[in-house]
Amino acid sequence: MQKPYLESMPDANGFFGKFGGAFIPPQLEEAFREINQAYDKLSKSFEFLHELKKIRKHYQGRPTPITYCKNLSDFVSGGQIYLKREDLNHTGAHKLNHCMAEALLAKYLGKKKLIAETGAGQHGVALATAAAYFGLECEIHMGEVDIAKEHPNVVRMKILGAKVVPATHGLKTLKEAVDSAFDAYLKDPATQLFAIGSVVGPHPFPKMVRDFQSVVGFEAKEQFHEMTGKLPDMVTACVGGGSNAMGIFSAFIEDPVKLYAIEPAGKGSNLGEHSASLTYGSEGIMHGFNSIMLKDKDGNPGPVHSIGSGIDYPSVGPEHAYLSSIGRTNIGLCNDDEAVDAFYTLSQHEGIIPALESAHAVAFAMKYAKENPKEAILVNLSGRGDKDIDYIVEHYPIPVKHT
Ligand SMILES: *Cc1c(COP(=O)(O)O)cnc(C)c1O
Repeated sequence: MQKPYLESMPDANGFFGKFGGAFIPPQLEEAFREINQAYDKLSKSFEFLHELKKIRKHYQGRPTPITYCKNLSDFVSGGQIYLKREDLNHTGAHKLNHCMAEALLAKYLGKKKLIAETGAGQHGVALATAAAYFGLECEIHMGEVDIAKEHPNVVRMKILGAKVVPATHGLKTLKEAVDSAFDAYLKDPATQLFAIGSVVGPHPFPKMVRDFQSVVGFEAKEQFHEMTGKLPDMVTACVGGGSNAMGIFSAFIEDPVKLYAIEPAGKGSNLGEHSASLTYGSEGIMHGFNSIMLKDKDGNPGPVHSIGSGIDYPSVGPEHAYLSSIGRTNIGLCNDDEAVDAFYTLSQHEGIIPALESAHAVAFAMKYAKENPKEAILVNLSGRGDKDIDYIVEHYPIPVKHT
C-alpha cells in the first residue's frame, strides 16, 4: 500500500521532487542535523503532541471556527464562500501555529534563545509571543528600513520582551535581516534555535512548519463536514512563503478537492511590480533551498512588491513549487486593487476586517464564486486586518457600501 502523502513527502533529505533540500554552510550542518533528528523523534512523541494540543486549546484559542459568508455569497451571486478564521487565532494570524510549536521544540532541545528575521514584523511578533510563553529569550533581526516602516510591530516585539536587532547593511530590508540573523545564529547554534517563519528555508523547516500548520486544514475538514455533510469543492489561500496555504491544503491533498494558491500580482507583471514567484519565476537556490524564484539579471533574488507586506517574498516554499509542477495545485493571481476591494467588501458585508494578505485569497474566491455558482469554496482567512487600517484609509478612500 502507498504511504499517505504527508508521510512520504518530503523524502529523507527534504526533497519534494527536485525542490527543497538543505543548501547550508558547513558550519550549520551539525545544527540542522540536530533539529532534524529531534523533530523526527518528537513528531511521533505522544508527550510532545499532547502538550502542543493543550497549548493550542488553552492558549491560542483553537479550534478557530469556520464562518459561512451568506451576505458575501449573495453579493457575488455565485458559489458559497466559507472562511477558516485564523484571524481569531491568538495574535490575530496563523503564524502563531508554527511559532508555538517551534518554541516547544526549542524547549525540548534545551535551547535558551529563539532567533529569527522578520520583514514586516508579523513573524517577529508571533515568535516574541511564543518566547514569552515558554520563558525563552528572543532576538529578532529586522532591516532598518522595515523598522521605520513597521513601527507598531517593533513596539509590540519590545513590549513582549524581545530584543530587536537592526540590520544596517545593503538595502536594510528582509534579505539583510536574514543575513544578520544567520550570522548571529552561527555564533552559537548550541544554545539558540533559528525559528523560520514559513514553509521555506533548509530542510527540515518546510516539512516542520507544514506539519505545525496542518492543524488548520485538519480542523477545517472536520468542521466543514459537520456543517455541510461534504467536502468543499475548492480550497484557497494566499501564498507568500506559503505556510498558511500549506496548512489548509495539507488535509485535502488526497481528496477530490481543487486547491488554488493565490499569488500577489501587485501593480504589474514587470520584475519589481509583483511577488508572484510561481507565475513569473524560474528554478534557483536561495535562503538554503531549491525552488521557483524571482531573479534579477544577475541571478540574485529579484525586487518584489505587494500591498500585503507578509507576502512580498521572491521565492516560495518548495512544496508549493512541487505541487504546482505536478498539477495538484492551481495558481491564481490577485493584484493590489482587487485585494483592497475585497478588504472593504468583506468588512462591509460580513463585519470581518481581513489582513491585506488574506484579502488576496478572498478576492480570488469572489471571482471564482461568480464563475462557479454551484461550488462550495473554503478560504483560509490567514489573519485580521487591524495592522493594515492606517495604511489603507490613507491610500484608498473608504467606499460607500453597495448592496
Ligand atoms: C505572514 C502572513 C502571510 C504570509 O505567510 P505565508 O507563509 O505565505 O502563509 C499571510 N497572511 C498573514 C495574515 C500573514 O501575517
